[in-house]
Amino acid sequence: MTIRYDDKVVLVTGASTGIGAAVAKGFAKNGAKVAINYGSSHAEAKEVLAEIVGQSGEAELFPADLRDTAAVKKMVEDVIAKFGKIDVLVCNAGGLVDRVGLEAMSDEFYDSVMDLNVRSVVSTCSAALPHLSKSKGNVIITGSVATKVGGGAGASLYAASKAAAQNLIKTYAKEYAAEGIRFNSVSPGTIYTLFHEKHTSPEVLKNIAASIPMKRLGTPEDCVGAYLFLASDDLAGYITGQAVEVNGGQLMP
Ligand code: NAD
Repeated sequence: MTIRYDDKVVLVTGASTGIGAAVAKGFAKNGAKVAINYGSSHAEAKEVLAEIVGQSGEAELFPADLRDTAAVKKMVEDVIAKFGKIDVLVCNAGGLVDRVGLEAMSDEFYDSVMDLNVRSVVSTCSAALPHLSKSKGNVIITGSVATKVGGGAGASLYAASKAAAQNLIKTYAKEYAAEGIRFNSVSPGTIYTLFHEKHTSPEVLKNIAASIPMKRLGTPEDCVGAYLFLASDDLAGYITGQAVEVNGGQLMP
């Protein structure tokens, strides 16, 4: 059994910061060639690339706004042009966008959250499907503990969008098992990244940390092992349609 990814090509979306950056570095450390996607954080993405290349890894940047299906298709074409195949697709890009309650809800806000967290997963999986079919590859999406317990204040659409994404991959898992493609998700609890730096107060985070059995928030690095495990056909070849919870005991479904 091996958890090496030599000769494997891994596309990680939203890999400039937080969980995606840690996952990209984790795959690279274990031999994979990594396609680093990001939306607008070019400087941060360049740092991830430099760290991987500095440790003799192989990676390349593929900027694309994943809310735009044409940009998604081009990103996948560019990855194929550079690396020739995709073995593992990590659909990680996503976010809260903003905290908005029902009293301030708008169609524009609805679209922005759903496009970022649901449309992007559908379009990326769709664009990558022929390549995953060839490689007998697998997909891992980043879900959330919020899919089971709902979001915090103003995060209703975010939680619902993540639940939609986690549900989508169950259908894909059934539909494409015959082609040898697996679909799973990693479902993080409260992980300290830009996501919470931007949208959650330090006081709320302190209270959340106190309520977690392990008495701390998660780190991006805490999440990496679950992705490496699910991506490995040797370790997880009979696992599809599942969610791995990474949350310090915050939720035991
Ligand atoms: P983050 O803000 O550090 O990372 C978000 C990533 O998504 C960045 O790389 C960013 O470039 C990318 N991105 C954002 N909009 C994009 C777009 N339109 N097109 C392409 N890329 C885009 O935060 P994070 O916490 O690392 O979030 C990563 C994933 O983890 C998200 O899907 C988030 O919903 C999920 N998640 C986070 C937590 C948490 O507590 N931090 C918990 C559960 C799930």
